Amino acid sequence: AHRPSTAATRTTCGYCGVGCALDVVTSDGEVTAVLPARDGPVNRGHACVKGRFAHGYLTSPERLTRPLLRRDGRLEPVGWDEALGYVARGLREAVDTGGPDAVAAISSARATNEENYLVQKFLRVVIGTNNVDNCSRLCHSPSAAGLTASFGLSGGTDSLDDVERSDCLLVVGANPVEAHPVVGARLLRRVLRGAKLVVADPRAVGLALHADVHLRPRPGTNVALFHGLAHVLLTEGLVDEEFLRERATGLPELAELLLDYPPDRVADITGVPAADLVAAARLYGRAERPAIVYGLGVTEHLHGTDGVRSLANLAILRGAVGTDCGHGVNPLRGQNNVQGASDMGALPDLLPGYGKVTDPAARGRAEAVWGVPIPERPGLRIPDMFAAARAGELRALWVIGEDVCATDPDSNQVAAALDACPLVVCNELFLSETARHAGVVLPVASWLEKDGTFVNFDRRFQRVRPAVPAPGEARSDFDVVRALAGVMGVDLGCATPADALAECGHVAPVFAGLSHDRLDREAAVPWPCPDPGRPGEAKLYGERFATPDGRAHLTAAPYLPPGEQPDYDYPLLLVTGRRWAHYNSGSMTRRGGNLALDPVDFLDLHPDDATRYGVRNGAQLTVESRHGRARLVARVSEQTVPGEVFCSFHFPSSGVNRLTSDHADTVTSCPEYKVTAVRVTSR
Ligand code: SF4
Repeated sequence: AHRPSTAATRTTCGYCGVGCALDVVTSDGEVTAVLPARDGPVNRGHACVKGRFAHGYLTSPERLTRPLLRRDGRLEPVGWDEALGYVARGLREAVDTGGPDAVAAISSARATNEENYLVQKFLRVVIGTNNVDNCSRLCHSPSAAGLTASFGLSGGTDSLDDVERSDCLLVVGANPVEAHPVVGARLLRRVLRGAKLVVADPRAVGLALHADVHLRPRPGTNVALFHGLAHVLLTEGLVDEEFLRERATGLPELAELLLDYPPDRVADITGVPAADLVAAARLYGRAERPAIVYGLGVTEHLHGTDGVRSLANLAILRGAVGTDCGHGVNPLRGQNNVQGASDMGALPDLLPGYGKVTDPAARGRAEAVWGVPIPERPGLRIPDMFAAARAGELRALWVIGEDVCATDPDSNQVAAALDACPLVVCNELFLSETARHAGVVLPVASWLEKDGTFVNFDRRFQRVRPAVPAPGEARSDFDVVRALAGVMGVDLGCATPADALAECGHVAPVFAGLSHDRLDREAAVPWPCPDPGRPGEAKLYGERFATPDGRAHLTAAPYLPPGEQPDYDYPLLLVTGRRWAHYNSGSMTRRGGNLALDPVDFLDLHPDDATRYGVRNGAQLTVESRHGRARLVARVSEQTVPGEVFCSFHFPSSGVNRLTSDHADTVTSCPEYKVTAVRVTSR
């Protein structure tokens, strides 16, 4: 009788940024179960419906198994040599025609650290451009900019373990119960054990049911809300005067600005009752160990960076960051490795470890390791890449593991950019919306099929290990990048992912203490970690912040309205986000049992609006904005308030991102996904 060969492989979940450790059980080379690791550093025996069950995509008949090359308008299977040769010639032609800056790449938060390191090295060393960005541009780039301006570094200030010791949680613009379920469960457990909870979110998200105060600001009014809270902290003396005197700057300017944000005026702007605002500020201000956790409801706005900084103001005023009693300001990262993709320098202005490309010393460190000069001029951000393609200036775009046509805003314009670009190369698992516009599609391995590391939302490096082989001729992104460099006559070094992380430590001293061997022994190590003999820093700041003067910087940015407002033609405000069973464009979670849990993109609307617009529960809706049209199924729900609607973007066929605008954060170009004026009709 056949005895199946079974095995279990410890790896890190490739969905959200929590970073759950999983034991992947295989039988005869197929995944049969995914079990949450009881000794997982973050998850401690827990996992959610995505990590546990969304692995059916591995054996989907739709997986790409051979490279595809467009001939006579059709994508046809070819061998790797032909595909890579074609790409190499196309890149050379683009450089010959338009110079190195005519080439760009979008790297991926889905990819490992080592793959991201190699992608940015390819652009900088082989092509000679800084035109590399990653999808943090579309989610947490305002966190990077805002936290760096306030405290000096881009990461969350504390660990989840620290946050869990808090006696008052302020959870803002996040729905961790659905989007980061293991964190949601840990926060809820803390609340059930006595911590106070303030939730600030327009929707009645899961944690709001347990909140002492639920603030429901109108979408796009966060900055006014945070200033209102700060106003109460200051006027009621709920601030740490010694901390402000010794460790912060900017108080006089902020105090003057806050005179314009008394609770009554903030109530007019945000719709949050003044009494609720005061109650929330008192809970946060009177707690001994208050902690802030926030999500994309803070960042994905026209003034997202101002939002992050104004939120950070609260922790600075309260002296609740960089101290033993404070548990800081902590972004919940959406994608599994969005922190790592940025850490590794897949950014147009920053090298691995966040050295600026404009800083000769940072460039010099990279040049010493890579042996070539690094261009000084920052490269293009993702939205600028699309604009350059539409203008005929970008001649080659490599999109790695991101379905930009489904997930980037104003997607009709994204498709137009891809169609205008002479060479579009796509690394993909499936024939995504983006791949349909590509000239070359390269089949690649998924997170369950490759080797490397991810960094989770609280800066912990953890190992990623292959549980099963990639199907057919699919290769890891790591192997594809190395092979393409080789075809172009450049040896990128880094024969293995372990070599790449080791090399990264030479470019970026903040990672010098990390290695695959160490992570195999210790499971999880947070950065900063400059020394192999010492633990990494779970708390980012001690007595000094990482700003040039060592102090935390308050900001006095005034509230400015969002890019869109409702009017007679478009009377509703649309907020987009994630649901519990699916992940982003759904390319993996839709191809398996999770499809039954959430079978379509729903539009949630309040019963009053359903009556006003004649919409029945379950009706097929046409949703229109000033930018495009989508088809969604109505879900009448009191989770939203009248005048506001919510939908996910897990089904590209519904076209949700044809609705969203090209308004973007004025500092980082992060799209304003959270505020779009729409109308609905039942047809
Ligand atoms: Fe954990 Fe997030 Fe994966 Fe769920 S999706 S198992 S919470 S890492």
